[in-house]
This record gives sequence, C-alpha cells and structure tokens, in this order.
Amino acid sequence: MYDVAVIGCGIIGANVANLLSRCDLRLVVLEKENDVSMGTTRANSAIIHAGYDPEPGTDMARLNVRGNELTRKQCEAYHVSYKQIGSLVLAFDEADEKTVEKLYANGCANGVPGLKILSREEVLKMEPNLSPEVRTALYAPSAGIVAPWELCFALAEAAVKNGCEMRFNSPVEKIEVIEGGYRLTTPTGSVDAKVVVNAAGVEADQVTGLVAAPSFTTQPNKGEYYLLDKSQGETVHHVIFQCPNKDGKGVLVSPTVHGNLIVGPNASPCERGDTATTPEGMAFVRKMAVKSVPGVSFRDNIRNFAGVRANSTASDFVIEETKPGFITLGAIKSPGLSSAPAIAEDALKLIGRTLVLKEKPEYVDSREVTVFRHLTPEQKAEAVRKNPLYGRVICRCETVTEGEIVDALHGVLPPHTIDGVKRRCNAGMGRCQGGFCGPRVHEIIARELGMDPKDVLKDKAGSVIIIGETKGGTL
Ligand SMILES: Cc1cc2nc3c(=O)[nH]c(=O)nc-3n(C[C@H](O)[C@H](O)[C@H](O)COP(=O)(O)OP(=O)(O)OC[C@H]3O[C@@H](n4cnc5c(N)ncnc54)[C@H](O)[C@@H]3O)c2cc1C
Repeated sequence: MYDVAVIGCGIIGANVANLLSRCDLRLVVLEKENDVSMGTTRANSAIIHAGYDPEPGTDMARLNVRGNELTRKQCEAYHVSYKQIGSLVLAFDEADEKTVEKLYANGCANGVPGLKILSREEVLKMEPNLSPEVRTALYAPSAGIVAPWELCFALAEAAVKNGCEMRFNSPVEKIEVIEGGYRLTTPTGSVDAKVVVNAAGVEADQVTGLVAAPSFTTQPNKGEYYLLDKSQGETVHHVIFQCPNKDGKGVLVSPTVHGNLIVGPNASPCERGDTATTPEGMAFVRKMAVKSVPGVSFRDNIRNFAGVRANSTASDFVIEETKPGFITLGAIKSPGLSSAPAIAEDALKLIGRTLVLKEKPEYVDSREVTVFRHLTPEQKAEAVRKNPLYGRVICRCETVTEGEIVDALHGVLPPHTIDGVKRRCNAGMGRCQGGFCGPRVHEIIARELGMDPKDVLKDKAGSVIIIGETKGGTL
C-alpha cells in the first residue's frame, strides 16, 4: 500500500509530490494525460502575482503572498526561467482610481512588499508605450513571470528523483474506501493508498464526487491569448494589467520569460477541456489590450491558445480534508499558479493528521540542466567537445541543440511527444512554432526511445502525426 497517492500532475499535484518526496513515504502520482502539466498549468498568463487582488483574510490572500516568495526560491533552486519584473495596474478614470486605491489597501493588509501608487508621469516614464490616457497605476515590484510548465516539470522531476512513482495515462475513474485507506481504479491498474490528495484541477469536484459529496462545483471558464514574436517582447517591461472586473483580472500585456509578448485573456464560460480559441474571444482581447498599449502589433502574432479556469461555486480555494485521509485541493483558479507551493504546505498539514511526516536525510534537492544558448562561448566550446550533439542546432528560432533534446529524452521524466520536448527544451517555441524543427524532433524521439515513428504523437493521446506510408517508402 502506498502512503500517499496524488491525483493530477499540474502545478498543484507537482508541488504536493515534491514536498512529500522529501519525507520517508511511498508515493505515487496518477495523471490522466501522457505527461505532466497538461491541464490549466500549461495555458495561463504565467504571472507570479504579488498578492494585492485577493480580499484580506482569505486563503487566496495568505497563500498568494507566501507562494510568491516560495516560487522565486524554487525557480532559483531548480534553474527554472523566472523574472521578477513587477506589475502595474492602470487606472483610466475615477472609478479605476478608486479600484487602484482599494487594491493598494488590500495589498498592504495582505503583506505585499513595496507597493506604490504612481502618478501618470511616473508610469509613462517607466512604460513609454502605454496609452497617454492612463491616470495613475498601482506598482507591485514583487510580481514575476515564469515558465509554468517548466516549473511543474522541474518539481515533478525532483519528486521522481527522490523516489515518487509517476503513472501517466491513468485517469482515476473509481474510488473505494478500504481498510486503512482508499483504492483508486484507473485503466492502467488500481492503487491502494493510506492518503489521497485530489489535485485534479478543473475536474477536482468530479474526482471528490467519486468518494463524497463535493463542497463546490467547478464552473469552467476559458481565457484566450495571443503570443507575439520576440520582436515585440520589449513593447513593455512590466506586467500591464487593467483594473479587475467581475470576470477576473482583465486583459494584460506582458513580456514572457522567453522574450515574447503575451496578450490576454478574456473570460467566457465553457465546457471542461474546451481549449479552442474563438474569433469573438480574440477580437475582445485585441480591443481591450490596445486600451492599455495602443501600439501592440498583432500582425506579429505567432500563436493563439486558451486555458480553462477552475472557477467554482466556492469563493476561495478549497483546501480541505473531505473525508479522513482524503484531501481535496479544488477550485484552484488564479492566483493558483502563484500560490501553489503554499497550497502544498497547507496540504501537508492535512496529510500530517493521518501520517507521520519525517524528512529523509538522503533527499536530493537540485537540478542540473544544460541550456546551450545560456552558456558563454568558452562553455559552449567545452560542451561541444564533450558531446558533439551540442554542436547541432535543431531549433533555429530558439537555438536548441540535439544534445539538449537527447538529454531530456534520457532524463528521469522523459517526454514522448513533440510538445513534451518543446516544454522541456524550448524546441518549437519560436517564430516558426516547430514548422522547421518539428520533423527533426520527431525523428530524434523515435530514434532515442526506440519508438515506431507512427507512435510519436504531437501532444495528448490521439494527436497522431504520421498515419501511414507515402510513395511506397518505409518509415
Ligand atoms: C486563462 C488563465 C490565466 C491564468 N493566469 C494565472 C496567472 O497568471 N497566475 C496565477 O497564479 N494563476 C493563473 N491562473 C490559474 C492557474 O493556472 C491555475 O490555478 C493552476 O494552473 C491550477 O493548477 P492545478 O494543478 O490545480 O490544475 P491543472 O494544471 O489543470 O492540473 C490538474 C491535473 O489533473 C489531471 N486530472 C484531471 N482529472 C484526473 C483524474 N480523474 N485522474 C488523474 N488525473 C486527473 C489533469 O490531466 C491535469 O494534469 C490562470 C488560469 C487560467 C485558465
């Protein structure tokens, strides 16, 4: 019997598994999809919020501020792309100015460091490309940007390195109460565990519903984005928000950690799993974004995508022991990414009611990764001398070498798909979006993992790339 089974490996499940793997426990993560970070964690604004949005006294407020600090430390420890660039909330009229003052007061009550309300002149000096209509802005220097999937992967990888088992393609379909714990049934087999942590994101209410009446219902809500080319990455230098409204934090314009510009999201109710972009959603995002930054160059768009929020009937995050030894981490909408490590700390306290959590001395808390483009010329020469595959650039947009892709494919949590390689090494993230390097990555995956090329997928199960032979050739 496992000590703990974690359901779902988004940023919440990965953080819980990571913390638990520091303790002397038998652990397993059951993930529905074929990789980590396949749900909301891979499609969001990627902001580590400062913590002035949530109402003081809520779990969201407490966990956002603590999570902001912890995320920064995690990114440092695991060499994950992160930049503390600060955020600005712009006010365009009197009502907005009142909102900015309210956010400032919230932030002070929540313990957000360094908050300041800036005058029009101060804001425009910091960000000359903003609309001249701006009147004041709330400046939060502790806000940051991150690569969420990279962080999720790094946390999960560390958990696996420290003994946690990871089972993909394992949606939990049935949960039974058994002597001393729970039995979780998936198509890849069943798992018995003393404690279960439900971190199933948008599906968390349904998963809890397999064993008890959930205290909330998810109301999925879609947010759509533009991702612009790196030529636009310097349009602004902070995360630019408008004042929040009933639908959330509104449309933002922000640099990304990879040097692109991200613009979005809208907010519209949707079905679970509906990540299709829509002409209406994209038009709304464009209309709202130019209010803040009139010169956003949408002709430099390289990708559109959408993510699904776990909005719910609960007003706060749901972090509860639903039944003895069954913990629900649900309704984790924004700022869920920012709060994730702190949510995991709370989860551990609940797990501690059932299990004795004792840190193990042999825990390894580091991550070595070669990112060729970040090396000095001397380091590059040395890397190529040791392994000539670092001398072969596969993704020219992002300068990703074959050596880095091969490293990932033989890592402790190897990808099996083209997008899995993209999320680990950046190959295919750039201007051509894998148009040129995709087929080469496909070849390398098949070669290194000994897979039939027909079985190498683009992304989730069913995203087949090659369906047969052409011109009588062999695959
Ligand atoms: C448009 C948008 C913008 C956002 N922007 C921000 C932001 O800038 N900053 C911020 O802090 N937060 C932001 N958020 C919120 C943040 O992205 C989420 O709170 C966070 O990613 C939730 O992580 P999770 O692990 O709970 O969910 P997920 O990442 O969805 O992970 C849940 C996992 O559970 C798996 N799963 C589901 N059912 C089962 C099952 N039955 N068995 C096994 N596995 C299962 C799924 O496949 C998935 O991998 C945003 C969200 C959206 C949608």
